[in-house]
Amino acid sequence: MLRTIESLGSLRGKRVIVRCDLNVPLDGGRITDDGRISASLPTLQALIGQGARVVVVSHLGRPDGAPDAKYSLAPVAARLGELLGADVAFATDTVGDSAADAVARLTDGGVVVLENLRFNAGETSKADTERAAFAARLAALGDVLVSDGFGVVHRKQASVFELATLLPSAAGLLIATELDVLDRLTEKPEAPYTVVLGGSKVSDKLGVIGHLLPRVTSLLIGGGMVFTFLAAQGHKVGSSLLESDQLDTVRGYLAEAERLGVKIVLPTDIVVASKFGADAEHEVTAADAIEDTPFGASGLGLDIGPDSARAFADIIRASKTVFWNGPMGVFELAAFAEGTRRVAAALTEVDGLSVVGGGDSAAAVRILGFNDDQFGHISTGGGASLEFLEGKRLPGLEVLGWQ
Ligand code: ATP
Repeated sequence: MLRTIESLGSLRGKRVIVRCDLNVPLDGGRITDDGRISASLPTLQALIGQGARVVVVSHLGRPDGAPDAKYSLAPVAARLGELLGADVAFATDTVGDSAADAVARLTDGGVVVLENLRFNAGETSKADTERAAFAARLAALGDVLVSDGFGVVHRKQASVFELATLLPSAAGLLIATELDVLDRLTEKPEAPYTVVLGGSKVSDKLGVIGHLLPRVTSLLIGGGMVFTFLAAQGHKVGSSLLESDQLDTVRGYLAEAERLGVKIVLPTDIVVASKFGADAEHEVTAADAIEDTPFGASGLGLDIGPDSARAFADIIRASKTVFWNGPMGVFELAAFAEGTRRVAAALTEVDGLSVVGGGDSAAAVRILGFNDDQFGHISTGGGASLEFLEGKRLPGLEVLGWQ
């Protein structure tokens, strides 16, 4: 059983370290999507309401274990203050003098954000002893830990794993909500159950397919993953994303799907571009004729075509449960955003449970103008939710009592 905040007893006046995932996309110092900050609010508000002294820790981006101004959490602390409607202090280091001072100054119900965890090599070190040493320095700043960074629970890192063994620890409300929804996807999803996979991290996502096939009604494939499937069927894919070492795996999935009577639905048309860029020439072509455009073998498939988007949308709308991870195309460029937009629009019309999982997928739906409340749930974790659906054991959950 996952330990809940109540299991920690009265928190009034206690120093509560809250491990959030405030890893938001930034453009310079400007936050382009604050979804992960909003998702952290319920836990923080509950703790403030109880009169706890709240010490927020998080990572941002992938700095190299040392301070790097472009990954500072300062703008995130400011935005958190606006969203909470309260003063939020900021410490310019994570476990140094600034952090110790700021924590000592906290009053009941007060909040401080410490600087980026990953400015310290110990946070992500491969060496158990280094992670443990950093976790011990963090532990000195708190009396208890509330772990609420769902996006990092699949990582064995100091603030996610070791810290939870050093202090009395429990899961926050965001983790509890995420698990509730993901549980409904793994335990008894109502049929028809459709999973839509896209994006660019192809090899990461192929693993999930084997685990999902026995559970789903249809699996729709879009994004960069399409081309490994098309190549596995013997089609030429020009210069599109291709994982040649995965062709046999993919052929195995196609055979397994047939055996199980599950539909793997591939796009029948593709938007092929002359190059990767906003000013690329582009053309819609049949999925088995990608090299037959004027761009020949240098053509790049950057979105699913309109017929495919329509077919995907029809299947999604007729489903009772839908999980979507990974954009259908390079949605950041207007010319290749249509497939993602149509799939997102179809998800908003599902009469049942619709879940969008993944940092880029969540950002995509917001950037394309959809609202969070148009979906059943927007998960803050891409890798974490996929690993959960794969049935992997996640260290950041197990350490909180999850089995
Ligand atoms: P995260 O893992 O960060 O939570 P995610 O799972 O939502 O994110 P990713 O696998 O990271 O998604 O993929 C998102 C990226 O995939 C986008 O930047 C998009 O431009 C890119 N992408 C989608 N289709 C293609 C394609 N056909 N070719 C190349 N890149 C593509």
